[in-house]
Amino acid sequence: MAKGTRYAKRSKKGQPLWLLAAAVAAAAALWGARALGILPEEGQPAGAPVSQAAQSAGETAPDGELRVWYFDVGQADSELIRLPDGTSILIDAGTSSTEDELIDELRSLGAETLDLVVATHPHADHIGGMAAVIDALEVEQVVMPRVSESDTPTTKTYENLLESIADKGLSVTPAEPGEVLLSGGGATLTVLAPNGEDYGDLNNYSVVLRLTYGEDSFLFTGDAEEESEQEILAGGLELASTVLKCGHHGSETSTSPAFLEAVSPQYAVISCGVDNDYGHPDSVTLEKLEAAGVEVFRTDRDGAILASTQGGGVTMTALGKTAA
Ligand SMILES: [Zn+2]
Repeated sequence: MAKGTRYAKRSKKGQPLWLLAAAVAAAAALWGARALGILPEEGQPAGAPVSQAAQSAGETAPDGELRVWYFDVGQADSELIRLPDGTSILIDAGTSSTEDELIDELRSLGAETLDLVVATHPHADHIGGMAAVIDALEVEQVVMPRVSESDTPTTKTYENLLESIADKGLSVTPAEPGEVLLSGGGATLTVLAPNGEDYGDLNNYSVVLRLTYGEDSFLFTGDAEEESEQEILAGGLELASTVLKCGHHGSETSTSPAFLEAVSPQYAVISCGVDNDYGHPDSVTLEKLEAAGVEVFRTDRDGAILASTQGGGVTMTALGKTAA
């Protein structure tokens, strides 16, 4: 997305403090977020039952086309899945520096209501813009990984997200491998990870999702690294996908050879910033993809990327860099 006008920071003023504290405690209960210092000893899980996705009002694709946008949010991640019936699923929301542009983009795509928002893991390049998205749009359900007490972040970014979730009266559904988060209209969204409970590294908690539609499929990996990839392989769930969003911005710590072979994608998407400080994507990852004959799309070069399918083959479109 273009670097647009920055707007005034969102504010929580006018909200009674006790309400905020109670709401944050409720949202945090799932996580065992004692690090925030607000959780009672016996926190009650507050996950909402996972059910058929609600039907969104708004733009639909009568041609039976499913679309996935991989937004250009710099050195960060954000994807929108739009089912033919208008159901909208947001996976990650980039950093706070692109939140206004992301919200504008979601509105312009008709995704005023997000049936499902998935925070793959609580790092700022994935959840930094999510509080603002939840504040601005209608959200039906939020899914996050269950993170161990010792790995639970104490960042303001994470707290802001929990506050926004609570402010909207939402609870958080923890991601469980094998669980079908959504099924309808020919599309199925299944959780593949996280499979472990204590990684010592937030990346490996990433919620990994596989979306199928007709003959096509999409794998969304967050920042999952090799440890999680091996667990996914061991879990035995169907993994092959037409489009792979490479884990951890194309870092060499993800897209391990066995995982890539099992996914066997036709296309790969790497979400990373222009000249980012991490050297993402790693040349090792690019070489692996090239050797496997995978066509690579990169948000740092291609801008936002649109994948569309009617179930019989995916068309990839690089939407181009927007002038800064
Ligand atoms: Zn990341």
